[in-house]
Amino acid sequence: MSSLTEQKPAVYYNYVGGEWTESASRERLESRNPATGELVGYAQKSTETDILQSIDSVYEAYRTSDWGVNPKRRYEALLELARQIENNIEHLARLMTMEQGKPIRESRVELAGCVDTLKYFAGAARTVFGRSVQLEPGNFGVIAKEPIGVVGIISPWNWPALLMIRELAPALAAGNGVIVKPASLTPIISVELFKLIDQVPHFPKGIVSIVTGPGQSIGAVMGSSKKIDMISFTGDTSTGKTIMALAASNIKKLALELGGKSPNVVFEDAPLDKAIPLIGRSIFISAGQICMAGSRLLVHESVKEEVLFRLKQYTEKLSVGNGLLESTDMGPLVSQSQLDLVNEYCEIGRREGNIITGGYRLTGGAYDQGYFFAPTIIDDLSSDCRVVREEIFGPVLAVQSFSSDEEALALANDTDFGLSAGVWTSSLNRAMRMSRGIQAGTVWINTYNKNFPEAEFGGYKQSGLGRTRGVDGLMEYCETKHIHFEMD
Ligand code: NAD
Repeated sequence: MSSLTEQKPAVYYNYVGGEWTESASRERLESRNPATGELVGYAQKSTETDILQSIDSVYEAYRTSDWGVNPKRRYEALLELARQIENNIEHLARLMTMEQGKPIRESRVELAGCVDTLKYFAGAARTVFGRSVQLEPGNFGVIAKEPIGVVGIISPWNWPALLMIRELAPALAAGNGVIVKPASLTPIISVELFKLIDQVPHFPKGIVSIVTGPGQSIGAVMGSSKKIDMISFTGDTSTGKTIMALAASNIKKLALELGGKSPNVVFEDAPLDKAIPLIGRSIFISAGQICMAGSRLLVHESVKEEVLFRLKQYTEKLSVGNGLLESTDMGPLVSQSQLDLVNEYCEIGRREGNIITGGYRLTGGAYDQGYFFAPTIIDDLSSDCRVVREEIFGPVLAVQSFSSDEEALALANDTDFGLSAGVWTSSLNRAMRMSRGIQAGTVWINTYNKNFPEAEFGGYKQSGLGRTRGVDGLMEYCETKHIHFEMD
């Protein structure tokens, strides 16, 4: 395997005030390949001093440049960044797979998503429309959309490029200055993308910055800084709650994209040939480390046996291994702690349910170097089991069955989360009833995991606050001002 990872470990710096800077701590974060344990590179282990400098520099660039009032400049900048990524996809995909572990094919898809998102928001930068309204005789109102100011983006490790760009693109399109704090497990791919930002001359110097380091210290400074007007956070629901509390310091605007426990609901009239591979993919993509994972399967009792038989066959054919191999379907988990967590949940599942396949760490040969876990299906679980209720963030599918549409809807909604759902049926009426009844930000009918920059995404209940993507996603990064004219 080592011939696949010949790249030398490099040192990655913060990008502050348009310059590459070293942390005041002079300490570094090690980034290691979760498939092999090899060192991928070093990033800065930044301190409070570093993040405060970064906040000051973005604040200053926002105040002194024309960025907030020059949509055409923003359009040019985002489009050029899209081109830069497009020209470097193979290099970036390789680096992302080495740092995060996901199959190279998934890395390419993720980066293509970054390009598409940047192109969409490049155009959207020129459409930050408000409204006007006649209010009473002689009184005319203009409802204007303006940038918020300085936005802090805190992003997770599971889709490190797209989830950063998904927020960076609309925040910049709306005219804000931005500071990014990427996850400590995946700082390198994030900084590598900033090297491309550095190549784009249309960005005013200092308008966008990245500082790597621990969430609990520098992320927390961002949450409480009075110079940051908004935090856009993607991550765990419990961290989201901490950030909400920090943001109270100056009543910061918040956009929260949090966890999920999403169901695929399979009725007796489901198109199973299409459903089986897509349901399998919905939970085993990124080794289940994806917020919208279809981690619960709710299946009508009359087709349960067939569905589980076919899903088991699908699962056992998956090739688990080093993501750099083109043949790999599922890579490792991202870290030892993630591996331990998934293992713990499987032990609970073993006690309270029936493991149909998987349920163990993969060992032997190259598996011993990384955090590989067998794709797992657990059946016969009750609604109060932790495997059904809690987000595992691993390749573990929890199965329950139902006997009526009402029961299916009740089970689908019996969760603290509400990020997404899949409904599988040939009946239009049933599809409509279920999609309106399920409390989730996205409901896919006879498909799953289809996302577009123009279609809003976000959570009901504890899966989040606000929407990302689409027109609403752009408006999240705007303030609204009423300008009132009274004529004599
Ligand atoms: P996490 O909450 O542990 O970390 C996310 C980010 O927050 C990281 O950059 C981390 O350094 C930072 N952070 C940690 N503690 C902090 C604090 N006290 N103050 C400020 N920042 C802090 O999440 P993770 O493990 O990186 O990601 C997995 C979670 O993200 C899962 O729950 C998943 O469902 C969720 N997620 C949601 C979406 C979505 O769009 N809804 C997308 C991807 C991931």
